[in-house]
Amino acid sequence: MIGGGLAGLAAALAVERRGLSCRVLEASDGVGGRARTDVTPDGFLLDRGFAIALSSYPEQRAVLASAPLLRPPSGPAADAARRDDAAASAPGFPPLWAMLSGGGVGGSIAELRLRPFFSGAYVRTQAATGADGAPAGASSWSCVADPLRHPAEAVASLSPSHPVGSVLDKVRIGVLRLAAASRDWDALRSAGDQDGAAEAALLAGPTSSLLAAASRPGSAGSGGADPTPLGPFDASMVDRFLRPFLGGIFFDRSLGTASRLTLFVFRALQGGLNCLPAAGIGALAAAVEGRLREGTVTTGWRASGLAAGRGEDDGAVWTVSEAGGRAAVRARAVVVATEGPTAARLLRAAAGVAPDGEVGGPADGGGGADADVLALAARAARPGVGGVTVYFAADALTVAESKLPLYAEPVLWLNGSGHLAADDASAAGDGGLDDPTWGAAGWSGAVINHACCPSAVAPTYAPAGSALLSLSLAAVPTGLDDAALSTLCLAQADRWWPEARPSARWRLLSIVRTPYAQPPQRAGDGGVEAPARVAGLAADAPPLLVAGDHASAATHDGALRSGRRAGEAAAEALLK
Ligand SMILES: Cc1cc2nc3c(=O)[nH]c(=O)nc-3n(C[C@H](O)[C@H](O)[C@H](O)COP(=O)(O)OP(=O)(O)OC[C@H]3O[C@@H](n4cnc5c(N)ncnc54)[C@H](O)[C@@H]3O)c2cc1C
Repeated sequence: MIGGGLAGLAAALAVERRGLSCRVLEASDGVGGRARTDVTPDGFLLDRGFAIALSSYPEQRAVLASAPLLRPPSGPAADAARRDDAAASAPGFPPLWAMLSGGGVGGSIAELRLRPFFSGAYVRTQAATGADGAPAGASSWSCVADPLRHPAEAVASLSPSHPVGSVLDKVRIGVLRLAAASRDWDALRSAGDQDGAAEAALLAGPTSSLLAAASRPGSAGSGGADPTPLGPFDASMVDRFLRPFLGGIFFDRSLGTASRLTLFVFRALQGGLNCLPAAGIGALAAAVEGRLREGTVTTGWRASGLAAGRGEDDGAVWTVSEAGGRAAVRARAVVVATEGPTAARLLRAAAGVAPDGEVGGPADGGGGADADVLALAARAARPGVGGVTVYFAADALTVAESKLPLYAEPVLWLNGSGHLAADDASAAGDGGLDDPTWGAAGWSGAVINHACCPSAVAPTYAPAGSALLSLSLAAVPTGLDDAALSTLCLAQADRWWPEARPSARWRLLSIVRTPYAQPPQRAGDGGVEAPARVAGLAADAPPLLVAGDHASAATHDGALRSGRRAGEAAAEALLK
């Protein structure tokens, strides 16, 4: 396996379960890839970008149930487990609603120690500007809650004066969730596997078409194709809640993401809880790695070349060479499980084509590499979407003195004023996130799409008494260095939570920039699940498989599933 993210680890587990041996070659100094957690010297857990663990993802249950844990977590993860035991024995933990709502944090995923978020969000809205340029109204927080899990909060949000969506909108969201709940997981994940036409229609429509126009007769994803009986949502629902919420999940505030992925997410939200693992988001990768044989994973090994040849017994083998030509590993089958752009380079190398060569062009070397493998490489090479997470710490004294909900409530704080654009931004500097110039030097408007206090969800994210704050930007701004970005975030945090005095009291811990957070997943980007076995190589080439979120859906579930499928296909080919 080239790559030790969730996909590469799941592939290795599938291979080992069939009695074969394998190696995972990982370029960095640890496993997990984009789903990894760093521990600061003073004990904060910093995920490699803010992410949520969904308890309902079926693949994580299946993968963890498929094999016993061979090595319990050690080091910081073991320490987090110890601290989690202490937190879990505190009165009122876990919260009663989480136990009653059946979020399913037990069973095979109990070892992840998932700690739930409040099922809903606080949404920052700003009253509309008055006529003829009158100043923007005051900004405030409003709660949007899941009626099944938090009925009291949900009833309050049904008031006609609630700023986020109409009453009908909330009914529509409920209908969308129920419609998603009735969908088959596999049908949602694999284009055309089952019920092909309907799924293809859903992939054709962006999220916005699903949300805004799905009930229009004859529209894509409506009527016979999509049973979701939704009407157009009020703009206050789209801009204030759906845009920051789904835009944060998909790193695309334009809501251009394929609507089927949105249904998939609604399906996941319907069936389980949004959580953080006590040892950080990297706990899932650690749990899969802990099921692999000792010595399977080699870190610090960056693959740069991949060439088919003959082994000592004259059997077909791949030779994977390390960057700089330092080392080479031979394997009877290879799973490429890196992020898309690196996978594209390795696939082209495997096909004997120079990185930028055309099929049949001079760089092809006249080898006539098949269009199949190059099409797969071209798909993997597409630039992804990115985001930034800025982490701050509030010390124990600050947290104890202030007694603010910010440090105590396990809730997501959403920027629902961003799209209400330029007027609001000029009046109060609290909007304009969708202004195409945001991120430029001199920008003073909003930068935060969503925020949370991870230590309020899982206390292990911060040393005892102190708090971790996580502020997420739904794009990677160019031209802003860390100092400028931190200042902008603090300025917005000062407006959002003035009592916390963030500029004065918070300490910058880290800025995590992830230019390739997810592959492109816009409507029309094509089937999300690539075939595991790469076709179109020379007839005597050994099996080559591709896995990862670019070959599936960009979720923990999608990465694990594509890895497992690739591992199974590799084992099957070798055992034939
Ligand atoms: C900030 C952020 C938030 C997210 N939030 C969520 C969320 O809330 N819920 C959700 O389900 N999903 C979320 N995702 C998506 C999810 O994390 C990814 O889809 C998934 O982790 C991808 O796994 P992967 O194994 O396909 O790729 P990766 O995790 O990228 O793994 C690829 C691995 O290959 C290694 N590698 C690269 N090149 C080489 C080479 N040449 N040789 C050897 N190794 C190499 C890399 O170091 C890496 O470890 C989020 C992603 C990000 C970035």
